[in-house]
Amino acid sequence: MVRESILLALVALPTSTLSLHTSPGLPFVINTWGGPFTAATDAAYLALINSATVSALDAVEIGCATCERNQCDGTVGFGGSPDESCETTLDAMIMDGTTMKSGAVAGLRRVKHAIAVARAVLHHTRHSLLVGDLATQFAVENGFVEENLSTEESKGRCEEWRARNCQANYRMNVEPDPSTSCGPYKPLPLDQSALAWAVAQNPEPPSHDTISMVAIHSSGAMAAGTSTNGASFKVPGRVGDGPIVGSGSYVDGDVGGCGATGDGDIMMRFLPCYQAVENLRRGMSPTEAAEDAVRRMLRKYPDISSGVVVVNKKGDHGAAASGWTFTYAYRGGEMNATAVVTVPPLTAKDEL
Ligand code: ASP
Repeated sequence: MVRESILLALVALPTSTLSLHTSPGLPFVINTWGGPFTAATDAAYLALINSATVSALDAVEIGCATCERNQCDGTVGFGGSPDESCETTLDAMIMDGTTMKSGAVAGLRRVKHAIAVARAVLHHTRHSLLVGDLATQFAVENGFVEENLSTEESKGRCEEWRARNCQANYRMNVEPDPSTSCGPYKPLPLDQSALAWAVAQNPEPPSHDTISMVAIHSSGAMAAGTSTNGASFKVPGRVGDGPIVGSGSYVDGDVGGCGATGDGDIMMRFLPCYQAVENLRRGMSPTEAAEDAVRRMLRKYPDISSGVVVVNKKGDHGAAASGWTFTYAYRGGEMNATAVVTVPPLTAKDEL
């Protein structure tokens, strides 16, 4: 009988890593992805260690700016993820976990330093989000340089995509057929058969990555931020989850923080980082909090690619992913190198 109930409990439990990664101590920095993104972890952590005057907010800006300069994986900063017109635009957000004030830019054109412009929005306005050309104008007023964000590589990628008849792309319910044509497109009437056709014929280009980071100062003050050049071959004007508070990242210094990466068009509908931090507040561990946030998306979108990394205010951390094997990087306390954790994907099957 006892054995039976144990067995039932095991069957009822969805697959879960549920691993607890205890804090290495403060200060602490954690961010989405390993590989080239670990340079950002190191830069933020070393800034906190080496200077008494560097705040958690400074560390997040320094870390994300490192990835912008290094063009991490081609998915952060200039010269990556060209849109349909071959232009690179940037999304970024930064948030102070003490005041809950945030600053963000979306669709930022011709300015390389998106996280720094987001920070200028936080410090020099009462707003939370500036967009497009008018965000550029604000950046220039604040001393940032206007320059072309395209590179030979990003122009070449875009030309290759056009040579493949713009496949795959994000258009649907339009004519001419977006699975064979570059447009220009006109909308089709929105009936169910058109929608079914679009879903079947027009897969989304797989192109997602982002840096989202949370930093904890040795005083306990927390900050979070995100920087990305969004999705490759997006419709010009598309904004992803990166600059949306609670989606790309979120922090409440009384509780913890979260950073996310993945299919921003879907993720921003669920505010996974807000959800994860609220989960922490209700007593979940960081891994449980991340898994719950990912499962909420998986239930409706079984194919979604996502990665969510969560840290409580002590620096205990965990993560969850779907659609791909996700990695995250962290460094804290007296660690002499950044560590990378591999997170296998949950699957929609886990929801049954
Ligand atoms: N979430 C970003 C976006 O969709 C990109 C990514 O993280 O993959 O804009």
